[in-house]
Amino acid sequence: HRHVDHCTTESALSVARSGHLHPEIPPYKNFSTYRAEGGYDVLESCTSGERTVEQAIETLSDGGLRGLGGAGFPTGRKWSFVRAEDGPRLMAVNGDEGEPGTFKDRLYLETNPHQFIEGMLIAAWAVEAEEVFIYLRDEYPAAREILLKEIEAVEKAGLATHTKINLRRGAGAYICGEESAMIESIEGKRGLPRHRPPFVSVRGIFDRPTLVNNIETLYWVPEILKNGAEWFASQGKNGCKGIRSYSVSGRVKNPGVKLVEAGTTARELIEDHCGGMAGGHAFKGYLPGGPSGGILPADMADIPLDFGQLEKYGALVGSHAVVILSDQDDMKDVALNLLKFFEDESCGQCTPCRNGTEKAVKLMSQPSWDTDLLEELSAVMADASICGLGQAAPNPIRSVIKYFPGDLK
Ligand code: SF4
Repeated sequence: HRHVDHCTTESALSVARSGHLHPEIPPYKNFSTYRAEGGYDVLESCTSGERTVEQAIETLSDGGLRGLGGAGFPTGRKWSFVRAEDGPRLMAVNGDEGEPGTFKDRLYLETNPHQFIEGMLIAAWAVEAEEVFIYLRDEYPAAREILLKEIEAVEKAGLATHTKINLRRGAGAYICGEESAMIESIEGKRGLPRHRPPFVSVRGIFDRPTLVNNIETLYWVPEILKNGAEWFASQGKNGCKGIRSYSVSGRVKNPGVKLVEAGTTARELIEDHCGGMAGGHAFKGYLPGGPSGGILPADMADIPLDFGQLEKYGALVGSHAVVILSDQDDMKDVALNLLKFFEDESCGQCTPCRNGTEKAVKLMSQPSWDTDLLEELSAVMADASICGLGQAAPNPIRSVIKYFPGDLK
């Protein structure tokens, strides 16, 4: 009888530990440690007038910082666009991190949250944002607890007097990582992507000019401003600028976030940073950028994984979520799995995506693919969908037809 009681208590405890109400908080760098190491000095150099907005933007642009949520838009230029609009202006931080295979933002929030918070406050200063809305995915309860506590510490220290910080919870919708759907959600509405133009830099939250940056993008801001543009830019390779956090998963020995040079290749990630392929697996192909980025074969594993490098092969690096696949993976099954994901997550607003993903799943579930029809469907989805979800959804289909004909037999 006592044994049963013991088990009940144990399982209740483990539910409490893993559940939303009592997340397990990992050890991380808190406010006093970060501050003692010179943290927030860069922010103070900005708010005190020692550094101008123009100088800050120039340093970020020279350093080559780009939007690391996946779009890769030059950060300095984005700040300039928003700043050029009439105030009052607002800011949103995209912490939805919903692209499957991506887990870098979580790592930074759970290890060094203040480097991100400092970057966010610098961005708010640069565009003179009256309020900042952090949109955090609800599947990250520990990151939420950490942010609640640490933002309070920053506010108490008087470092956030130039803006008001709001922390918003997502509700598990992939589409709310799309910036205009995220803005709808922040406004309290259903997360449906907006037509563009107008761009969110012109009409964002509550129709005000809005700066939207990803967690990791902001995370690098204090470091670049402190160490200089050259420090960041010179760390890239193969003609690419900067350092990148590749979330590597799949059939490798040591998966995880690999902080390495921008422009690193999939082969280098596997061999130099992941300890090689997992036992019994031979490298067959990879997703360079999560489900939206298509699938490339192993003989194309020497392409630098950076923005602008993969488009000509029908692929995208996006949020740098690299999923390694092996001879034990049937690419038809992989693509079907990805399309089922898009079918589930389509917001349903436009026909090419809502009906296209459903139709694609049906066609791909047949014993043999009607490739002509799938190509035609892919073209319609890519050309006529409102947002990136529907536009990128056919990428895995096209990849399998183009690069893995052997798996279609
Ligand atoms: Fe919604 Fe898909 Fe259309 Fe995007 S492409 S607006 S997710 S239906």
